[in-house]
Amino acid sequence: MNLCPLCNGLYFLTEPCPKCGTLLEDTGMLENFLGPYSPYLDEEILDRVDGVGPGECVHLLSCPRCSYDKRVVIDRLLD
Ligand SMILES: [Zn+2]
Ligand SMILES: [Zn+2]
Repeated sequence: MNLCPLCNGLYFLTEPCPKCGTLLEDTGMLENFLGPYSPYLDEEILDRVDGVGPGECVHLLSCPRCSYDKRVVIDRLLD
C-alpha cells in the first residue's frame, strides 16, 4: 500500500500564488471534486486524472484571495 503525504497530513504545501503571493490552500484530492463540483470537471482534468499513475495523487491548490488554482501531482510514499 502507498499513501500520499499530503492526504495523510505528513506535510503541507506552502506555495505562494503566482498572481498575488497569498499562500495557496490545498483543497484536497482532485477526486473529491468528482460529482457535485462538476464545474471542475472539464475534459482536460479528466484526461489528467486518467493519466495519473497509481503512485501519484493529484491535489488542487487554490488561492483564497484571487481564486487562482492549479493542480499538482504528488508522489505517494511507498509503505
Ligand atoms: Zn493526496
Ligand atoms: Zn492569488
